[in-house]
Amino acid sequence: MFAIEARKMGYRVHTYSPDADTPTGQVADIETSAAYDDLDRVREFARSVDVITFEFENVPSACVKAAAELVNVFPDGDILHTTQDRLREKTFLSANGFPVVPFRHVTTIDELDTAVAAIGLPAVLKTAGFGYDGKGQSKLHGQADLEPAFAALEGRDAILEGFIDFALEVSVVCVRGQDGSFADYGVIENQHANHILDLSLAPARIATRLADEAVEVARSLAEVFGYVGTMCVEFFVTSDERLLINEIAPRPHNSGHLTFGPCISSQFEQQLRAVCGLPLGSTEFVAPAAMANLIGDVWNGGEPDWAAAVSDPMVKLHLYGKSEPRPGRKMGHLTATGNTADEAAERVASARLRLQKSY
Ligand code: AMP
Repeated sequence: MFAIEARKMGYRVHTYSPDADTPTGQVADIETSAAYDDLDRVREFARSVDVITFEFENVPSACVKAAAELVNVFPDGDILHTTQDRLREKTFLSANGFPVVPFRHVTTIDELDTAVAAIGLPAVLKTAGFGYDGKGQSKLHGQADLEPAFAALEGRDAILEGFIDFALEVSVVCVRGQDGSFADYGVIENQHANHILDLSLAPARIATRLADEAVEVARSLAEVFGYVGTMCVEFFVTSDERLLINEIAPRPHNSGHLTFGPCISSQFEQQLRAVCGLPLGSTEFVAPAAMANLIGDVWNGGEPDWAAAVSDPMVKLHLYGKSEPRPGRKMGHLTATGNTADEAAERVASARLRLQKSY
């Protein structure tokens, strides 16, 4: 989606990843398939472009560092380094006074015991690095869960988080330009299924005071980071109406996919504008919007009925061009607008139901 926006504005795109025939590669001018730790290829790539950005936060720091010696990389590699590890991210956030879920670093079973005693149960044990969509996570309900959850880490560094009995999950997708200008899409409400984002709607159905506070947190975080590009801050809204940051995505985010169409400038166009040094575009929504993810499971009953899904003319289909629909794999999404966010959500949800012929 970033490459599509770049091509629309006349930019040429060169993409680098270990895979071939990637969704970005299908749209880009040039696709390099090479390992992230092949620093000679990374340098060769960096010499061939004017500016670099990334859409995937697990790009190793050494790769970004090697590229940044030759060409500007936005957002900065240090921000990537901080956000790609839950321990570094949460330590940074709490050290800078941002509200986070209670957490402890865990490297041994004894440390897990101590952490559980401090935080209480239920709690969630998560690998510190390389986790997303609930991967590498175990929920601990009682003492008996500690041993198996620790064993499942297989020696990886971890953090224990208090389990938040949240009322709602929301995110703020925002963008900061090279000149320090800032724009946001307000607050987006997110619903998950099996730890994977299922449906997003905007504006979120929360009090204005909370919405303003969430945007303010995102703005000051972008400022503290000296951020350039699109960023997403995910929050839990607790039942007593407090905001806690769950995580930061240093890139356009799945919840922000609902800006692609319903907004004057999408989160991807903003990323492009920021990294290319252009003024930011308008984040205005033409109408309340919603997005429903299409994961591989949608294919379980055979090829989905695309025509039925888009039989509502207000519904738009986005497929990423991934070759194989595996369970849990994000394959695309549906977006719609409505008179209210509820109506837009209802539209995308029913369109998704129509995809499966059995319905
Ligand atoms: P994550 O990969 O950390 O974003 O987790 C994916 C999803 O799991 C979140 O969006 C929540 O729905 C749930 N989750 C993660 N951490 C917690 C927590 N500490 N308390 C309650 N739910 C959580």
